[in-house]
Amino acid sequence: MARTQVAIIGAGPSGLLLSQLLHVNGIDSVVLERRSREYVARRVRAGVLEQGTVELLQRAHVGERMLRERLVHDGFELGFDGKTTRVDLHALTGAAVSVYGQTELTKDLIEARSAAGAKLLFEAGEVSIEGFDGAHPRVHYAHGGRRHELHCDFIAGCDGYHGVCRRTVPAQSMQSFERTYPFGWLGILADVPPASRELIYSNHARGFALCSMRSLNRSRYYVQCGLDENLESWTDARFWDELRRRLPAAVAEAVITGPSVEKSIAPLRSFVVEPLTFGRLFLVGDAAHIVPPTGAKGLNLAAADVRVLYGALVEYYRTGRRESIDGYSAQCLRRIWKAVRFSWWFTSLTHKFSDDPFNHRLQLAELDYLTGSPAALGSLAENYVGLPFDGAG
Ligand SMILES: Cc1cc2nc3c(=O)[nH]c(=O)nc-3n(C[C@H](O)[C@H](O)[C@H](O)COP(=O)(O)OP(=O)(O)OC[C@H]3O[C@@H](n4cnc5c(N)ncnc54)[C@H](O)[C@@H]3O)c2cc1C
Repeated sequence: MARTQVAIIGAGPSGLLLSQLLHVNGIDSVVLERRSREYVARRVRAGVLEQGTVELLQRAHVGERMLRERLVHDGFELGFDGKTTRVDLHALTGAAVSVYGQTELTKDLIEARSAAGAKLLFEAGEVSIEGFDGAHPRVHYAHGGRRHELHCDFIAGCDGYHGVCRRTVPAQSMQSFERTYPFGWLGILADVPPASRELIYSNHARGFALCSMRSLNRSRYYVQCGLDENLESWTDARFWDELRRRLPAAVAEAVITGPSVEKSIAPLRSFVVEPLTFGRLFLVGDAAHIVPPTGAKGLNLAAADVRVLYGALVEYYRTGRRESIDGYSAQCLRRIWKAVRFSWWFTSLTHKFSDDPFNHRLQLAELDYLTGSPAALGSLAENYVGLPFDGAG
């Protein structure tokens, strides 16, 4: 019978980072991931890290390449009414954000875990969990053509929105809160220099657009699209054309086009489940909450959960005290709801919700007010760089 201290389901950023931080603190874990190593390392997703996430990666001893290759951004641009206005994050908060792709972060974590001889099992199928409401949680899974049983002290459900952990909890034990948005993001990745040194969030009567990047030679662009859009109908030429139409003229002219290396559509959703703890099972990251990507909070929120959980587990194994473990859910939820609010607000401000011109005029008025008010800009900036951990949950 196999045994570990913490069984971690899912090798996304949450599961890998938790496993690595536990390892650095002498706590044993096994990570079970249903996809292949190549698939996980290739998945293109987030790219903006808050300073708190950067510090956590350093604490996990996986920050070296990130610190070398990241792009530090101490501002971003808001595009509306044919012009752009810079939000000077550093002047407003003293902080900055780092651009470093989730794919790179995932590769760093997988390498660090593998180098330490971690029990990191890819292509683990039919994962199921049981006994977490008592003292002896167990995980069942199939791997290498055989079925296995893993005994553990705790289970960390780091298996994303579609994972098995949240779905195993009886529905009457949790409450979910959800808002779906009537649009998605069509994104492309292209090996061309970005249009601007910093990100540009653009509000336009045709819909939202975002100019982002992964490096000085790799750009990530998005346009708001309908939920029923067919990816095949979006040729690269059509995408570049639509993107440019939604950007202020000076930015549109600076866009360098090229063949896309990845193209996908993601629906936008706000989702939170409460609580995050069920006996000896903890939900972490996207398994417990989803935010629309406007404002880049998803990955950072997952890292914030990991920060609280690994600290609580270290305290438990060192002292036997359970207060921090018992407080995991409440502490994380305070930060989660603030990020849900911010992501919802930033999405509402920048996206087209209807053809009603009244709504667009209201958005333009708010953007005008925001960019003219140091107090309003300060609020935007402190949420964007990441709220402080002390007292903010
Ligand atoms: C298209 C897209 C763009 C995004 N852009 C941004 C952005 O710009 N900024 C930002 O901050 N966030 C962004 N996000 C969100 C961010 O990527 C997520 O918040 C982050 O990946 C959460 O990490 P996680 O480890 O909690 O979950 P995931 O990354 O979803 O990882 C969960 C893992 O669990 C595995 N798994 C699932 N079910 C099982 C099972 N039954 N058994 C075993 N393993 C299982 C999955 O294969 C996966 O590897 C984006 C997300 C998407 C989809």
